[in-house]
Amino acid sequence: MVRRIAAGEVVERPASVLKELIENSIDAASTRIEASIKDGGKSLVEVWDNGVGMTEEEALLAVERHTTSKISSEKDLESIETLGFRGEALYAISSVSMFQLITKAKGEELATRLEIEGGVFKGVSKYFRDVSGTTVAVKNLFFNLRARRRFLRSKRVEQQHTRRIFLEYAMAYPEIEFRYLEEGELIFHFRPSSLEKRVEDARGASIKDVLEGDWVRLFLIDDKKGEMFLYVNRRAVFDRALSQHIKGLLRQRFISSELPTAIVFIDVPFKDVDVNVHPTKREVRFRDPSRIHEDIERMFSPSHGVVLPSEKVPETDFSLAQPAFSYTAQTAFDVVKEPKFRFLGELDRTYLLFEEGGSLIMVDKHALHERLLFERIIERKTKAVASWIPFENVELLEQWGSFLKQLGFEVDAENGVITAVPEWALGIEERVLGSVLDALKDGEPKSLSYEELARIACRAAVKAGDRSTALDAQFVANILEERGLGLTCPHGRPVVVKLDKGYIERLFKRRQ
Ligand code: ADP
Ligand code: MG
Repeated sequence: MVRRIAAGEVVERPASVLKELIENSIDAASTRIEASIKDGGKSLVEVWDNGVGMTEEEALLAVERHTTSKISSEKDLESIETLGFRGEALYAISSVSMFQLITKAKGEELATRLEIEGGVFKGVSKYFRDVSGTTVAVKNLFFNLRARRRFLRSKRVEQQHTRRIFLEYAMAYPEIEFRYLEEGELIFHFRPSSLEKRVEDARGASIKDVLEGDWVRLFLIDDKKGEMFLYVNRRAVFDRALSQHIKGLLRQRFISSELPTAIVFIDVPFKDVDVNVHPTKREVRFRDPSRIHEDIERMFSPSHGVVLPSEKVPETDFSLAQPAFSYTAQTAFDVVKEPKFRFLGELDRTYLLFEEGGSLIMVDKHALHERLLFERIIERKTKAVASWIPFENVELLEQWGSFLKQLGFEVDAENGVITAVPEWALGIEERVLGSVLDALKDGEPKSLSYEELARIACRAAVKAGDRSTALDAQFVANILEERGLGLTCPHGRPVVVKLDKGYIERLFKRRQ
């Protein structure tokens, strides 16, 4: 029983079996790997490879607990280059399935076949197999753990998981030929190719852009799906902080409905990353995560090859201004200088107009305010300022209390009072609370996702048409000067549009 329970750590569903088997095949230096799935993997997950294979002794050892051929010293553990190293996957899988392993090492006459049923050894026999390599067939997963079997989802859902795992590995190892079958039908077949080609084949869409940093390479796929694949040293991993960071940067440049899929390869020296954090090795720990975050930040910075907002500007018309990074040096000798952006007035109570060297700069005040609020909410460094906003509906306040606290409010739910307001919300408390209330109406958000924060910022921001003076012209001019014209709102729409002096001249036929 202990054995079967422990298996749960590694084996959660058919896709996790597939993952372990593909990893083993990759570690075995295979150049061809074929996966075959039946009934979403519930009745069969089989992986065939042409790797180095195992002798009979090695095969017998491989299904024992904590036996791995990949680590022989403490030192190896510190810089793991193989995908497997814990030596428990085959053991765990064979404890909870009808398991068969056929393997032939190079130079051997015959292959070895092992059969194990729910952890019970059924026998070893010799078998004919033409090429060296290994085939593992895992049938009827969890046949001996009825509770877990019941937790498996429909064929369709399990299939989605197995496909995702297959594609994840196929993308990271373009030099290997991969085939994937469902119910005997060939679904994917990738021949050895370049990484770019493999990524496009696996996604069925083309690469829109490639961003490169020192350790990070990021492919943007033009599929509007907004998915994320993260690899560290070619191992598919989850890293919440990293994916949030990247998603945030992408959302500054693309509107939600046009978010590209991001495929992110991080390559660092093996010693700088610990993969032994979690049994399935899906989580990693960087020795210095900030280095990676900074690299990503740099990759996205405008001077590093910008990704423009994807919203198309009407043809022939004005050009979307490129971020103009013009930090003018301030020295002790600086004389009072002409302001770079001269405020002209407001158009339609929506756009603030500025002049800069003969060009007309239009700032969408709602979009700008939204952007600034959003940044301040995200930072959440701002202090809370004592306040006293009574609430009639105590029950509601109790319900939202924790959510409001995450935003920086202090709440005395028992007495139905908000006792402090975060600095960023000062002066617009009503709007913010109103927008939180709205957000909560569509179901109760428990955590602050990017979307949620963007939504709150959007609803709390000055609206087009507002007479509000929340955005002082000088303040806006300073922002333009400091941050350039490339700002976008959290949904990716531009904040600033510039009508070039040349363009205006052409309008008046002063110039061709
Ligand atoms: P780990 O991968 O962590 O070493 P596993 O339980 O996945 O542990 O595999 C145990 C051992 O079986 C591996 O260390 C390897 O020596 C051997 N093995 C498993 N699958 C294969 C394969 N497809 N080809 C060659 N050897 C394999
Ligand atoms: Mg393994």
